[in-house]
Amino acid sequence: MRAIRRFSVRPVLPEPLTGLGTLVNNLRWAWHPETQDVFEAVDPQLWRTTGGDPVKLLGEVPAARLDELANDQAFLRRLELAVSDLNAYVTGERWFQADAGTPVSSVAYFSPEFGITHVLPQYSGGLGILAGDHLKAASDLGVPLIGVGLLYRHGYFGQSLNREGWQQERYPLVDPDGLPISLLRDGDAPATVTVTLPGGRELHAQIFIAQVGRVPLLMLDSDMEENEPAEREVTDRLYGGTTEHRLLQELLLGVGGVRAVRTYCRITSHPAPEAFHTNEGHAGFLGVERIRELAESGHDFDTALEVARGGTVFTTHTPVPAGIDRFPVELIQQHFSPDVFGDGVPIDRILELGAEDFEGGDPAVFNMAIMGLRLAQRANGVSKLHGVVSRGMFSGLWPSFDSSDVPITSITNGVHAPTWVAREISQLTYANADQGDSEGMFEGLDKTTDAQLWETKRILRQRFIDDTRARVRASWINRGASEAELGWVDSILDPDVLTVGFARRVPSYKRLTLMLRDPARLKALLLHPQRPIQIVIAGKAHPADEGGKKLIQEMVRFADDPEVRHRIVFVPDYDIALAQPMYPGCDVWLNNPLRPYEACGTSGMKAALNGALNLSIRDGWWDEWYDDEFGWAIPSAEGIEDTDRRDDLEAHALYDLIEKQVAPRFYDGEVPGRWIEMLRHTIKELGPKVLATRMVRDYVQRLYVPAAQSSRQLNSTYDGARELADWKKKVRSAWSAVRVDHVELQGLGDVPQLGTTVGIRAFVTLGELTPADIDVEALHGRVDTNDEITDAVRESLSLAETYEGNRHRFEGELKLDRTGPFGYTVRVVPKHPMLASPAELGLAAGPSDPEDPNTPDLPVGSEF
Ligand SMILES: *Cc1c(COP(=O)(O)O)cnc(C)c1O
Repeated sequence: MRAIRRFSVRPVLPEPLTGLGTLVNNLRWAWHPETQDVFEAVDPQLWRTTGGDPVKLLGEVPAARLDELANDQAFLRRLELAVSDLNAYVTGERWFQADAGTPVSSVAYFSPEFGITHVLPQYSGGLGILAGDHLKAASDLGVPLIGVGLLYRHGYFGQSLNREGWQQERYPLVDPDGLPISLLRDGDAPATVTVTLPGGRELHAQIFIAQVGRVPLLMLDSDMEENEPAEREVTDRLYGGTTEHRLLQELLLGVGGVRAVRTYCRITSHPAPEAFHTNEGHAGFLGVERIRELAESGHDFDTALEVARGGTVFTTHTPVPAGIDRFPVELIQQHFSPDVFGDGVPIDRILELGAEDFEGGDPAVFNMAIMGLRLAQRANGVSKLHGVVSRGMFSGLWPSFDSSDVPITSITNGVHAPTWVAREISQLTYANADQGDSEGMFEGLDKTTDAQLWETKRILRQRFIDDTRARVRASWINRGASEAELGWVDSILDPDVLTVGFARRVPSYKRLTLMLRDPARLKALLLHPQRPIQIVIAGKAHPADEGGKKLIQEMVRFADDPEVRHRIVFVPDYDIALAQPMYPGCDVWLNNPLRPYEACGTSGMKAALNGALNLSIRDGWWDEWYDDEFGWAIPSAEGIEDTDRRDDLEAHALYDLIEKQVAPRFYDGEVPGRWIEMLRHTIKELGPKVLATRMVRDYVQRLYVPAAQSSRQLNSTYDGARELADWKKKVRSAWSAVRVDHVELQGLGDVPQLGTTVGIRAFVTLGELTPADIDVEALHGRVDTNDEITDAVRESLSLAETYEGNRHRFEGELKLDRTGPFGYTVRVVPKHPMLASPAELGLAAGPSDPEDPNTPDLPVGSEF
C-alpha cells in the first residue's frame, strides 16, 4: 500500500539534551570533527549505521539511551562545551570584522546547487561542491553571506551499475523533515514567495533554511499544497526535465530567490545585501527581478539597470560554449511579458539582455551567460587560464577591443580544508586547525617526521580501501552476484601499493577512459612485479548522456577482469561521502582533461591538502600552480587536430610518467625520502593557495567590496544611477563622431634606442562629447608579425590644447623600455568614475586607418 502522505516524527529530546538539537541544526558539524565525536558518543553503533547522519541518529536512538545520557554528567559537560564552542564560532569576531573592517552589509550568493554534506544531496558535482565550500569559508571568515538555492525533492540521482556495467539512476525522495534544515516562518505560517507564470498560473515556494555555520542558506521548495501538481514539481530534481522545466527552476531561483532574500531580511532584521553574486548563469534572472523592484518604486529601466548592475557579480564556470544555458526567445517572451511579470520592465529590454546580437550569434535564443555579463558590472572566470579562455569566448560582446581587454577577470577556486582534510593529516600539519587558514597554518608539518607522515598515509590508504571494499561488495550484490562468489573482494587493493585516484563527473572532455588507450600497457603498470600501481575510479554521467554511460561501461568492463580487478576498481555513486575518505587515501591524483576545457577543477586541490601528488594535464588551476615539487605535468598535445592521435600521444606520455618517474619515486625505500619531500612541499607551499578562505577573501576584496561601493553610490539617491544611465545614452549616440585624427611621435631619432623617452601627441575629434567624457590611451608594447601589439601597456594621455570644432590635442610620453619590434597605437574610450572597466560600454575609437597610426586623413605635422 502506498501512503498518501508521509512525514517524519522528530524525537523529543530530554531537557538536558536540547543542546544536541542545537548542534544538529547548525551544519558546522559537517566540518567539525569534535562535534561529530559528540554525536558518535550518543550511540557509536548507530552513528556508523546511519552513515554519520545526526538527524537519523537522533530519530533512531532508543529513548532509554537518551534518558541514560540525560543523566551522564561527563556527556552533558562535553555537550555543553560543544554548544558553547558553536556559539563562540557563530558570534565571535573573525577576519571580516577584525581585518577587513566590515566593508559590505551583506552579500547574497545564488547557485543552482550546493554540496555541503553527504546528508543534504543537493549537488551534482564541482559547481555545487564549490558553492558549499564558498559558504563554509565565508562562515569561517565571518563574511555576511546569504546563500540562495533550491531544495530538490529528489536531489541529484544516486548511481549504481547493472550486470553489464551500465549506469542505473535512482532518485530517492528527500524528506525535509529528515534533514538538518528548518522552515522559515513568518509569524505562525510558513514564509512563502510567489512567481506569476503565463496563463494566470502561480508558482509558490516555501523557504527552508540550512544554517551553514554563520551563513544561512535559503532553499526554495515548490512542493506545497498551494501549488497545482505541475508547479509542485518545479523543484523535483537537479538538472532534469525539459527546457521549460529548467526555465521554471531558474525563474524560481533568480526571481523567487531575490524575493526570498527580501522576506528573510524582513523577518530576521538582517541587513539587505549590497552585492548579489550569481554562481554561473542559472540564477541570472536575479538581475531582472532587481530591475523590476526598482521600476516598481518609480525608476526608469535604464536607471534601474545601472543600480542592479553595479551591485551584481557574475562568475562563469564553463569554457565549453555548449555548456551555456540558452532558452528559445519565445519562452522568455511568455514568462516576462507585461501581463505576467508586471509592466515596469519592457519585454524588449529584457530580450536585449540575453540576445546573441554578435557575429555567429543565434537570434532565436536567449543566452543566460550573455545576460549574466550584461547584468553584472563585474564578472570572473575561475582560474587564470579560464579567465583567458573566457575573455576569448565572450569577446564578441566587445568587438572594438582585443580579447585581453574584455572585462572578465579571474579568481581561482579553492577548497574548504576543514571539510576535506582527513583528521589525521590536519592533526599532523595544522598549527591551528580551528581558524581554518591562519598564517602558518601548515607549520605543524615541520615537527612531523617522515616516518610519521608515511605511517599516517598508510592508515588513510587502509581506511579508504576498507570503504572501497564495502562499496564494491554492495555494488556486486546489486549487480546480481551472491555473497558466496564475492570472497575475492576482501583482498582487492593493497595498503602498500601506490594508489592513484580518478574521480569526477563524466563529460567527454574529462576523458575518463584515456588510461585505456593501450590496455596492455595499463595492465603492465597495474601488475608490475616490483612497482605496481592501483587505481580507484568514480564518477557519474549525466542521465541523458549516453556517451558518458558508454565510457563508464568500458571502464567497468576493464575493471571486471579477474586478472586486474584487485588493482583497478570502479566505485559507483561518487558523492561527498565517497570523496571524503578517497582524497586522503590516494598518493597520486590523476586528471587528464582535454585542455583547456577544465575551467578550474578542485578535486586535485583536495587531494593535495591530504598529501597526494598531482599527475595532471596543465589545465585549470594546475596550469597556474604546477611545480615539479607538487607532482607531474602530463604533456598536452593541444596543437594536434586529430583527437585520436592527440589521445594516443597524451596517454603514452601518461604511461611513461607513471612507469619512469612516479612509481620509482614511490617505491624508493621503506620510507621514500624524495616522495615525502614533495608531499611536504605540496602541503606547505601549494596548500595555502588552494584554500577556499583565500578564494573568498579574493572575492570580498576584488569583487564584493567594489560592487557594494558601486551599489551604495548608485543607490544612495538614485541621482547617480540616473546620471550614469543618461551619460551612457549620450555617449552611445555621440560615439560615431569620435575619432583619432592623427598621431605623431617626437624625439624618436633615426635609430630608436632602448631607454629613450619619446613624446606622443594625438589629435582627436569628439563630436558632441567633451574631454571629460573620454580617456585617450596610448597602447604600446611588443608587436608580432601581424603588427598586433601583445601585452599592451596602456597609458592615458593628458589634454594639452583645444581647437575649434571640438578638436583636441592630447600628449604623453612613451618609454622605449624593451628592444625588438615595438608598436603603438592610440584609442579613445569612454571615461566615467562609475565604470568598472574602460571596455564596459564596448566602445573604442582608434585612428581611422588602423594600418597606419601616423597618417589617417591628415598629413604628418599638419595643424587642425
Ligand atoms: C571536488 C568534487 C567534485 C569536483 O571535482 P573536479 O575536480 O572539479 O571535477 C565533484 N564531486 C565531488 C563529490 C567532489 O568532492
